[in-house]
Amino acid sequence: MEEQVVLTGGRVVDPSEGVDEIRDIGICNGQIVPPETLPNAKHVNMAGKVIVPGFIDVHVHLREPGQTHKEDIATGTAAAAAGGFTTVVSMPNTVPAMDTAERVVEFMELVAQKAKVRVLPAGAITIGRQGDVATNVKELVQAGCPVLSDDGSTPQKNGLMRSIMLAAAEAGVPVVDHCEDVSLSKPGVLHDGKIAKQLGLPGQPRSAEEVIVARDLILAKETGCHIHLQHLSSAGSVEMIRQAKRDGVNVTAEATPHHLFLTDEACVKFGTNAKMAPPLREENDRQALIEALTDGTIDMIATDHAPHTAEEKAQGWLKAPFGIVGIETVVPLCLTHLYHAGILDLNRLIALFTTGPAKLLASFCAKIGQPLGSLAMGSTGGVTVLDLEAEHTIDVRLFKSKSRNCPYDGMMCKGKVVGIY
Ligand SMILES: [Zn+2]
Repeated sequence: MEEQVVLTGGRVVDPSEGVDEIRDIGICNGQIVPPETLPNAKHVNMAGKVIVPGFIDVHVHLREPGQTHKEDIATGTAAAAAGGFTTVVSMPNTVPAMDTAERVVEFMELVAQKAKVRVLPAGAITIGRQGDVATNVKELVQAGCPVLSDDGSTPQKNGLMRSIMLAAAEAGVPVVDHCEDVSLSKPGVLHDGKIAKQLGLPGQPRSAEEVIVARDLILAKETGCHIHLQHLSSAGSVEMIRQAKRDGVNVTAEATPHHLFLTDEACVKFGTNAKMAPPLREENDRQALIEALTDGTIDMIATDHAPHTAEEKAQGWLKAPFGIVGIETVVPLCLTHLYHAGILDLNRLIALFTTGPAKLLASFCAKIGQPLGSLAMGSTGGVTVLDLEAEHTIDVRLFKSKSRNCPYDGMMCKGKVVGIY
């Protein structure tokens, strides 16, 4: 049966088309169509609400297969839907890793049965994500991977990374990188600064990230590969990317809400719910990341939604796993601290969840012949509805995610997600 909906009277903001106006939106079986072609559609009054292209999160850990005590495809995508996302890119650090076409196909069969939003699978760049032997780039792309990554780590061997980027450039697929030189980061568990000293814990210097950012930019320039740099944490990384973009390097970059809104001071207050990789850094780094959102050096906000159980996070600073959940809180946090705070206008903020991430997926969208992050006619990327003024308090007990490893419980926010279509 055809599912027809017309959203009426909402303020439509679509950076892909330069639109900001009151208009009706027609949706037929998930596709944007002219409302006048849907005479029998259900009408939903959206007066006072903001209608935007379905949000895309390019950095999500669904934990299935292998770690379904933390999250699974059903709960992770339910959390994505609650957070306002219609499309997510799942990271390949499952158990086993997404390192062969066969595993990707099996995973996508599970997705077809269980997922509540569109899931695009990132394939691994090395076998078992061990950083020793490259995967078959062509096969992974043919199996449906729009991007390739070893997220959670990166190959430490520069020659191997170069050959992977050459293969990726030839296949027209971006390489997505978790920038961490382990000879610099280990055994650090938080930023190497005064908080680490105060807590008596080993720190990770900024150079652990910056060395790999520099490597990747040099290799991208040489190979022509589209490199996408994940979850940036340091002001130095931001400045290198700004310069590389000026030089015409094919680079995109993301920032997470935690690096935008928290510093290493949060480690004192929130304990291991502020332990993540890369670590939360200092105020000048946070300010540099925010400035990079405003000038376009950073193209998109991605959550690095990383579920872990309470027991795992209770093991103390040295043993607890890195990462926090974020997909259900990112939009209210950004509306509160970026839009209402007057740092970004609404169009720029929406772009960071739509046209920004769509840049990373551009070659994939060209291949499937459908735009994502746009309300253009024919688009199948879905619709997200926001209420900019609703005041509410974050309550982790209401999360759809299986995990609650979140430092924002009890925080007041202005602006929320009404739903997705
Ligand atoms: Zn990562």
